[in-house]
Amino acid sequence: MGMIPRTRLFLNWLFHRQSQTCVACGTLTGHFSEFTGLCTHCSTQIPWVYNIRCAHCGRPTSCLDCVRPDRLVRYYVCNRSATSYTPMMKEWIGQFKYRGNEKFGPLLGEIMNRAYQAMRHEFAGHKCNRFKQSLWDVDIVTCVPVSEKRLTERGFNQAEILAEEIAKRNKLPFLPLLVRPQDTGKQSFKSKNERMNTMNNAFSVHPNMMNLMKSFILKVESRRATEECTHSVTILLVDDIYTTGSTLQACARVLREKALERGVHLAIFCLTLARS
Ligand SMILES: [Zn+2]
Ligand SMILES: [Zn+2]
Repeated sequence: MGMIPRTRLFLNWLFHRQSQTCVACGTLTGHFSEFTGLCTHCSTQIPWVYNIRCAHCGRPTSCLDCVRPDRLVRYYVCNRSATSYTPMMKEWIGQFKYRGNEKFGPLLGEIMNRAYQAMRHEFAGHKCNRFKQSLWDVDIVTCVPVSEKRLTERGFNQAEILAEEIAKRNKLPFLPLLVRPQDTGKQSFKSKNERMNTMNNAFSVHPNMMNLMKSFILKVESRRATEECTHSVTILLVDDIYTTGSTLQACARVLREKALERGVHLAIFCLTLARS
């Protein structure tokens, strides 16, 4: 008879203890921040990217990458990253991505969402002259895909979880517009040029992409008819890490080329969790 209340007490204690532990540093704490499971100390360590110096890739320092000749053709409007890819962010993303530590899911989603709000703020300034309506309304959220092989190994696509988190929090539709038919292997073992060449052929659009987008294209077309200003379908392309931008470039290229075949213009904005 006495066992059940005692077990319950133990479970309560265990639950209480866990709920008081910071997901990042493991410290027992009564002081949690606005980020799920994160103590106030750890929350002050988040390496946010402020003061963007390169308007294209969102780098906080001056940028030599975006002025390279091979970068003059740009398929996406710009990238913004929530944080720098510091050892701490590497650990948090690694916990989530490779070790399947689900506790980091909400936290990284919240970090991502804050960066999305900053983006809205930044681009809301771009007003349509005639009706003073914000030109920056995301129509569709999508993500960089992983190959089937990687999906089986890992069980989920981290970029998709982050993209869905933004979509859910902002009542936006998430659509899987891209697929990754071949596995390009570990990018870190390749040179910058090798990486770019493999990357260019790594992605395809979802076979049903234009059908998936149909209602959004119609919405944009009617918006264009009433507001008399040029609108594209605005896509938010999400990934976890920005390294050289070649992944985003390759994804944006196939999306835009496919849409253009049907006379649809896409404006692709990228949002990444961390940038190296
Ligand atoms: Zn902590
Ligand atoms: Zn740049």
